Amino acid sequence: MVEPCERKDDDETLTLTPASPISAIDRRLASRRMGAKSKGPPAAEVVADGLGIDSVGALLHHYPRSYIDRSEVDRIRDLKIGSQATVISRIKRVSRRQGRNRKAIVTVTLYDGTGYLDLLFFNQPWAANQYKEGMEVAASGVVAIYRGRLQLHKHEVEILRSGDDTVHSGRITPVHSVSEGISTRTLRELVFRALEQLPVLEDPLPASVVEAEALPSYDRAIRDIHFPREPEELARARDRLKFDELFVLELGVAFRKRRVETETVGVAHDAGGPLAAGLVGELPFELTGAQGRAIDEVRTAMQRSRPMNLLLQGDVGAGKTVVALAAALVAIDSGHQAAVMAPTEVLAAQHICSMTALLQRIGAVPFLERPETGASSQPSLLDDPTVTAPTMTFALLTGSVTGKRRARVIEAIADGSVDLVVGTHALVQEGVTFKDLSLAVIDEQHRFGVHQRIALKGKGVEPDVVIMTATPIPRTLALTYYGDLDVVVLDELPAGRRPVQTRVVRTAAQRRAAEEVIRTEVAAGRQAFVVCAAIDEDNRTQVKAAEVEAERLATEVFPDLRVDVLHGRMRSADKERRMEVFAAGESDVLISTTVIEVGVDVPNATVMLVENAERFGLAQLHQLRGRIGRSTLRSFCFLVDESEAGNGEAKARLQAMVATQDGFALADEDLRLRGEGTLFDVRQSGMPDLKLARLADDLGLVRRARAQAFETIDADPDLGDHPGLLEELRRRFQASIDWLFHS
Ligand code: ADP
Ligand code: MG
Repeated sequence: MVEPCERKDDDETLTLTPASPISAIDRRLASRRMGAKSKGPPAAEVVADGLGIDSVGALLHHYPRSYIDRSEVDRIRDLKIGSQATVISRIKRVSRRQGRNRKAIVTVTLYDGTGYLDLLFFNQPWAANQYKEGMEVAASGVVAIYRGRLQLHKHEVEILRSGDDTVHSGRITPVHSVSEGISTRTLRELVFRALEQLPVLEDPLPASVVEAEALPSYDRAIRDIHFPREPEELARARDRLKFDELFVLELGVAFRKRRVETETVGVAHDAGGPLAAGLVGELPFELTGAQGRAIDEVRTAMQRSRPMNLLLQGDVGAGKTVVALAAALVAIDSGHQAAVMAPTEVLAAQHICSMTALLQRIGAVPFLERPETGASSQPSLLDDPTVTAPTMTFALLTGSVTGKRRARVIEAIADGSVDLVVGTHALVQEGVTFKDLSLAVIDEQHRFGVHQRIALKGKGVEPDVVIMTATPIPRTLALTYYGDLDVVVLDELPAGRRPVQTRVVRTAAQRRAAEEVIRTEVAAGRQAFVVCAAIDEDNRTQVKAAEVEAERLATEVFPDLRVDVLHGRMRSADKERRMEVFAAGESDVLISTTVIEVGVDVPNATVMLVENAERFGLAQLHQLRGRIGRSTLRSFCFLVDESEAGNGEAKARLQAMVATQDGFALADEDLRLRGEGTLFDVRQSGMPDLKLARLADDLGLVRRARAQAFETIDADPDLGDHPGLLEELRRRFQASIDWLFHS
């Protein structure tokens, strides 16, 4: 019977606490060095410097990276080639020879009474000194056979000493990651001794939460994750500790959300104004049900006096622009200003373009085209009454608006004579001050972080915020890293949209067929995108490749078509002009780098060919493909795959693109293929790290933790009754403490 790792009750000097230094655990152990002759620093120092673990508490959270089940020991006779096995056996013989390259090979042969097993150590001459005949070892690895002899590959070997069996063998043995200078064995022993000496660990969670969620106690979970007696126990311990991580994350989210809602006063908008109503009445299309619901939700939230923080998620083409514009008009109807911030200049220009089309239907005028005199937007009695006076003004502010025009726009933002400003991060630069900003729309597209959000918010008193994302955020992320926001989803595409027919192109014949489709579509009056350089806009050779490719397509493949090229290194005026030319239908094929990835809206474009599609991530491919299929016309996407035959992940991505057009499904697949670290930079976000929890897998736990965290904050908004939790928040949110405590 294996003892659980309990504290030793008979010991009278239980002075160890989680705050104690590692050296307090066991002086003999903490000063242990690697190997007898080593002059290296003692273990305690190595643990502190190499692993960054400076306290007993930190050591307890250094969870094992794997486990070896030594409670299930194999007999050598029963070993199966190719399978993972653990053997506990005496060493029969140790031999050393010179291999090729004069490298030492040490062979340690085990004999357990049923058979022989070799452990080979290459280029580790010290092994011959460490392992001695007659010693008992526990060895785990993969069974192999070489020249008729059984071997254990990828082995982890430990010398067993009498008396420490309960620590290192006869149980599911933890393997903690270590740094140079300390062995797994020493580290494990440190953890074991620490747990023996620690009193029952105080549970950081409120008792009500532990009870409601039927969780094992914290003390139990910490002991079991390091030294589980059985797999079920380990699973329960892991879930409990995952829950703790997610709970603290959600607690921070709830804490901030509640604080922002109560401490800050926003603008209580009047949602019944003429501009917003006019827009809906004048649209050239019917709103989808989802758009209607989203506009209603935004209006309701804007009417409240507490600031709105709303995440508007909608797949590409779902029609987010109209929702954003409706929100902007509610702000302007109520006498305030609105801003729309886009991640790139091309996108900002595109936004202003498509918004202009809608705004002009309700009599709005571009600020810079307004006559300079008569700055008042009130209709004058002297004016011809049949001419509708301008109801509102709007302007673009990006890096390409320069000189006198820029000065005029900035002045108008400051004195309130422009109502709606669309721009890039130029909007949050110094020198730009809004007179009375009450709505900020941030077209995030995964390009802005938490900090830019804050920067734009700082521009007004406490504006309402809509964050638009076209790359659907997996549900777990929406619930965690964006968890302080209210989420509205546009889960319906405008009527009549047809799925984009997507194909992977691998052969020359398939390529010719794709080019033929481009030709046919152009002949029918449609347009095509060819996306060239992969990802890296800064890479000159790739931009050059786009130009060379443009040249080739223009002269060799489509000499009869109007081919234009667009890339990130062009002057923005140049980019804009070419975009306009294409949008106006005056060029047929637009060859471009990924600058067209976001937002670009040319409904007449029905074909896209993506070169080197294997180099793109799923989210980016989905964004790119979203540029077509934006009308009731049939459309086609060709993904040219030039990857190596063995690149399974690239193939899986392209296959996913062919299989579905559902952005949520693709986002989940992306998360699965790449892991959350790459999809959303947790470190950059300043949010606490997750050691055990995996957002992709733990949706159920995320939901439970979130519900409990919000309940806790509802009952105790400033955590005055939970000082321990508050301290934990401060510690875990260190990198984003401002986000937590300030607006
Ligand atoms: P996204 O969500 O990708 O930003 P947009 O707002 O750019 O989508 O809209 C995509 C296209 O669909 C635009 O050309 C827009 O005019 C059009 N559109 C938006 N809503 C509707 C609708 N309800 N019915 C038809 N077309 C719509
Ligand atoms: Mg858009």
